[in-house]
Amino acid sequence: MKHATVIYTGGIIYTVAGPDWEHYPVSSMAIDDGGKFLAVGSMNECKVFADDNTKVVDLKGKTVLPGMVDGHVHAPGDSFKVLYQIDLNGCLTYEAVTDAVRRFVKSHPDNDSYFGQGFRMETVDAEGNPICAKWLDDICPDKPVSIISYDMHSFWLNTKAMETCGITEDTEEIGSGHMHRYEDGSITGIFTDMQNINFLDPVYTEEETNAALLRFIKKMNQWGYTSMMSIPPYTFMECTHYRKIEEAGQLTMKVNCGQEINPATIEEDIDALVELKKFFEGSEVKISTAKFFIDGVVEGKTAFLREPYAEGAGMPADYRGASHWTLEQLEKACMMAMSRGFQTHMHTIGDAAVELGLDAIESVQTELGNKGYRNALTHLQLIDPADRLRFAKEKVIAAIQPYWFLKDPKMYGTLEVPYLGEARALQMYPAKSLVDLGVVITASADYPITVVNDPFAGIQAAVTRTIYNEDFGVDIPDSDNDPYLLGPEERLTVPRMIEAFTINGAYELFREEETGSLEAGKCADFIVIDQDILNIDTADIYKTNVIATVADGKVVYGEI
Ligand SMILES: [Zn+2]
Repeated sequence: MKHATVIYTGGIIYTVAGPDWEHYPVSSMAIDDGGKFLAVGSMNECKVFADDNTKVVDLKGKTVLPGMVDGHVHAPGDSFKVLYQIDLNGCLTYEAVTDAVRRFVKSHPDNDSYFGQGFRMETVDAEGNPICAKWLDDICPDKPVSIISYDMHSFWLNTKAMETCGITEDTEEIGSGHMHRYEDGSITGIFTDMQNINFLDPVYTEEETNAALLRFIKKMNQWGYTSMMSIPPYTFMECTHYRKIEEAGQLTMKVNCGQEINPATIEEDIDALVELKKFFEGSEVKISTAKFFIDGVVEGKTAFLREPYAEGAGMPADYRGASHWTLEQLEKACMMAMSRGFQTHMHTIGDAAVELGLDAIESVQTELGNKGYRNALTHLQLIDPADRLRFAKEKVIAAIQPYWFLKDPKMYGTLEVPYLGEARALQMYPAKSLVDLGVVITASADYPITVVNDPFAGIQAAVTRTIYNEDFGVDIPDSDNDPYLLGPEERLTVPRMIEAFTINGAYELFREEETGSLEAGKCADFIVIDQDILNIDTADIYKTNVIATVADGKVVYGEI
């Protein structure tokens, strides 16, 4: 008979196992010394595993859910930025942006160059002039300054950095890439999706990288995550660092990751992915995934659309954006990845990008058979109704970011409606229509693109489809007259969103036998939270606090 080292009892424990789990919470969990559940159910079912050494912990009526699974996150989040870079997140005016840059440059006088992250294209000065190189030149004319946008698609450079990167007004704009220009044609210093420019990369030491990754893992645990799909590109980090953290006994999350595949280097990138898998042999880290960027973003006018952009985008009448891939290239890369046992994970924002991704997956699965590849398309801002059925048919995971399911006061009226037209903007981010067709959805914030990776804010956003906390800088509206409500017919329920963040995420990671629900034999990955989110006003879900996070039976955050 196995012996329980600890029994947790007196909780409202949602197992997320079996049908109707939301109606049948249980009270108790027994865990063995290997960090696995011996029983999840009543105290009577757990007590049989107790002996004199078993510790019994009273949950005092608190709610328990499985550990959260992040379906798409960029490690190490904001750690390099917070620890070593200019942080422009939340800086939305000329004053805020230039103050932050000036302060950093002043306090780091010995740097050879300066890096930053988080600027927004819509930042303007008092006269309404858009963000440009001169703002940086006024602060730092003699060393390169290179700042990446909050969505990681655009760079903002000073003149010195443009020189160092060899950029001129005549640099070629390939595919969807473009250099922002003044009316006289001269370049402003903002560059979107310019894949043919080698932007400067900061270099971090081994110690700096490890410190950044450890800080990130700790933050993930604090938010309630115990597993994640760590998606390339890793910001200034190789995923091989996970192995060092693991060997030091500090990897308190289940991690999947992979390699980005580019159209110009398909063979090399697939080889690198295979090598990476070898490097992680014997590790708990799983190398499972080939990542593809199919298109860009709507706000950069680089999303690939079925119908042309609206007039407000200021582009030629037939402009639809462009794909980074031809169908032929993408089929070849998917065939190489999937036939070697990897799942694909594609950034697809526009409906034409979604269509292209599905076309490639469908053609490879027609040839190989659908052997449970668990391919995923992510972001999914626009999906043609006919393609929603193909998600179900080809068993493609929809890796959604519910945090974006609303009319963002900073984006909807100023960028999304002008660029897409209102009729199309209203169709953004379908969710329930996918679930109703039987599509598996997983959830994530695309952190650090959404700057706070709080799963409860994400659950609330998917359920309400409106702004979900004070960070939007506007009053939370009353529900009858809500200017931020986007497509209420696509609202999901709390239980379906909990599944997206737990068991479905585990499925995306090929780990549903290990984690994602609370069942005997599985790893004891769970969180204790301070409110029963299945039985409160949905507008209050974001207020949920994680009291403790337990991974493999060990408390990795908080206290119980
Ligand atoms: Zn991403």
